[in-house]
Order: sequence, then C-alpha cells, then structure tokens
Amino acid sequence: MASIVKIISTNKLTHDVLHVTTEKPDCLLFSPGQAADISINKPGWTERKNPFTFTSLPEDHALEFTIKIYPEHNGATNELLSLVPGDELIIQDIFGTIRYKGDGIFIAGGAGVTPFLSILKDLYKKNKINGNKLIFANKTRKDIIAEDWLSEVLGSNFINILSEEHCKGYAEGHVTKQFIQQHVDARLQYYYICGPEPMMESVIVNLLELGIDRKQIIQEKF
Ligand SMILES: Cc1cc2nc3c(=O)[nH]c(=O)nc-3n(C[C@H](O)[C@H](O)[C@H](O)COP(=O)(O)OP(=O)(O)OC[C@H]3O[C@@H](n4cnc5c(N)ncnc54)[C@H](O)[C@@H]3O)c2cc1C
Repeated sequence: MASIVKIISTNKLTHDVLHVTTEKPDCLLFSPGQAADISINKPGWTERKNPFTFTSLPEDHALEFTIKIYPEHNGATNELLSLVPGDELIIQDIFGTIRYKGDGIFIAGGAGVTPFLSILKDLYKKNKINGNKLIFANKTRKDIIAEDWLSEVLGSNFINILSEEHCKGYAEGHVTKQFIQQHVDARLQYYYICGPEPMMESVIVNLLELGIDRKQIIQEKF
C-alpha cells in the first residue's frame, strides 16, 4: 500500500548527492539494503516511480534517502532539488535483492553504496561490523558519499579507488581482478555488489575468474 510522507529536510551530502529525510509511517517495514519505488506528490509527477534505497534503519523514527542527482536527465532526481520541507513523497512498493547474509566484501560504485550504508549502519549498531570490508569506486574524491562516517566505522577496511583523479592515499583505476585479489580474505564469505551495469558486469567476471562461487555473490544493478 502506498504511503504519503512529508519531507522534513533536504541537504547536499556531496556536489551531486542529496540527503532527504521524511516522516516515517508506523506501518512501513523494510530490511537494511531494501529500496522503494518513490514518486513525488506533485501534479505531473505522481505516476512516475523511481527506485531509491532507505539509508536509515528500520527502527529509526524518520526515513532517509541518499540520492544522486542527474540534472541533465531533467527527470525525478532533478525535480527533488526543488522540494522543500512540507512537500510530499509517495512511498510505493518496497523491494530489493541486497540483504546481509554474513561477513563479506562490499563493492560499490558511486550511489551504489546506498544499500550498504543501511546494512553497515545496522552492523555497526549491533557491534558486528568488524571484519567486513568496503571497496568504494568513484571518479574523484569529491564524489565519495559519507567518507568520514565510513572511515570512522570501517577504518582500514574502507578501501577507496578513484578512476579519474590521482590522490595521495587513494588507489587509482578500476576494480580489476588484481585489485580485488589484494583484498580477498578467506574469512569473508560473501561479495555484495551494487553500482552501474558496466562496473557490475566487470566485477562479477573478475570474481568468477578468482574462483568465487555465484552463490557467494549478492548483487543489485542501479
Ligand atoms: C533497487 C534500486 C535502488 C536504487 N537506490 C538508489 C539510491 O538510493 N540512490 C540513488 O542515487 N540512486 C538509486 N538508484 C538509481 C536511481 O533509481 C536512478 O539513478 C534514478 O531513478 C534516475 O533518475 P533520473 O533523475 O535520471 O530520472 P528519470 O525520471 O529516471 O529519467 C529522466 C530521463 O532521463 C533519461 N535517462 C535515464 N538514465 C539516463 C542515462 N544514463 N543517460 C541519459 N539519459 C538517461 C530517461 O530516459 C528519462 O527520459 C536505485 C536503483 C535501483 C534499481
């Protein structure tokens, strides 16, 4: 059943990522890593649905979303920029294939980190985050979402890689087989992958070539 929620706040997390907080209906249930189809409750927008992941925890009193804006698409994300507190979103179906199954390596490209933000928040809160790793691929340092928080909770298990900027202390290039191999750890059973299609395809090929079983790979394409 669809729920209409009021926006509490919006603020920029990076140059092109918006953090949106809304009211949370009591009846709304989700698991960390899940998303919902969202519409903007404005004339002309209510029939359009775009999927966004909950980046808050199920038990929080508000909902949070972390949304990359594409002004050039002139679509829903661009429209979100004009919303103010009191405006409304419609939360439609809740779904999503990424759920935590056990300790692993999370591999994210850009906004593909959003399901992992919720899962890692949950693990941190339950004191179970230790050992999990995040490989986070971005073009440049200014694109990294929640860098301070991820550094704080993951420490040296937070591994950044930048494809379009040379930056001291950050790996450079794409998530190649050799790069993954450097971070493989026999204790970590699962590989959680989320990002744009070309990145996902190449990471999955790399994992299979490294002998990782398909059953160990949990993925969601953005
Ligand atoms: C399960 C799931 C969860 C997701 N969660 C998040 C999340 O938490 N945060 C997040 O930032 N993203 C998330 N995404 C991705 C997000 O849904 C899309 O980035 C977003 O819907 C794109 O909106 P838009 O502004 O491009 O508008 P749209 O209304 O989708 O598109 C507007 C116009 O742009 C065109 N267009 C679309 N894509 C392109 C393109 N690549 N190049 C050129 N034109 C294009 C369309 O054809 C359309 O005409 C998720 C995706 C999935 C599948």
